[in-house]
Amino acid sequence: MRYLILSDIHANLDALEEVLVRATAIGYDRLLVLGDLVGYGGQPNEVVERIRSLAPFSIIRGNHDRVAAGVEDAEGFNPIAQEAAEWTLRTLTPENRAYLSSCPPGPVFVDAVTEICHGSPDDEDVYITSELAALHALKEAQRPVCFYGHTHIPAAFRLTDTAFDLIPPESDEEQKIEIERGCQYLINPGSVGQPRDGDPRAAFAMFEPESAVVELYRIAYPVERAQEKILKAGLPQALARRLAIGR
Ligand code: ZN
Repeated sequence: MRYLILSDIHANLDALEEVLVRATAIGYDRLLVLGDLVGYGGQPNEVVERIRSLAPFSIIRGNHDRVAAGVEDAEGFNPIAQEAAEWTLRTLTPENRAYLSSCPPGPVFVDAVTEICHGSPDDEDVYITSELAALHALKEAQRPVCFYGHTHIPAAFRLTDTAFDLIPPESDEEQKIEIERGCQYLINPGSVGQPRDGDPRAAFAMFEPESAVVELYRIAYPVERAQEKILKAGLPQALARRLAIGR
């Protein structure tokens, strides 16, 4: 049984479709979505409908989903994110807004070994951007493998009885992480629709609990098409520019 794990799609249908083509070719059984389906990108309805059509096994909301669903206002956002969030709120159909507001906050326990959250297991809005924050999150996690998103940066941390470390990226294309018994893992699959690690390619992960292997993938997609949709929607140009540089 293999999970496909997607996070931070951010209304980027072009990236999502490319990821789904690749994930389907690899093969997966259940979809897990770590939140932020919308916000920033130009196709919020299309992305929500595509995800709905895939009937995720587990899905949680992100901070942008809360604002887009009208659950809370965009006050905490920077001006560009705020403008995009307000446009998204106006653009989403009532059905898609209702779907987003029905997504629970994390953490959600997927099975005996897997848990998902948007920010951190104890706070959906926390950014895990330091080893200290990662260590705290690992202590809060209630399953040996916890997937998180929100930072848009792929990362994998491991906690053993005696050590805590960041598992360094192996290659440019894909990274295989063997899950060892007795250890705890905190893994960010990266962002499908707005990567921020300087690599503009879409990121996603697969996890097979039986073989205890997590795989992190990167794939190119037609960035220009996603940019065109942002500009056509009248969203800030900076949101289109950042997709090309992965920041
Ligand atoms: Zn996000």
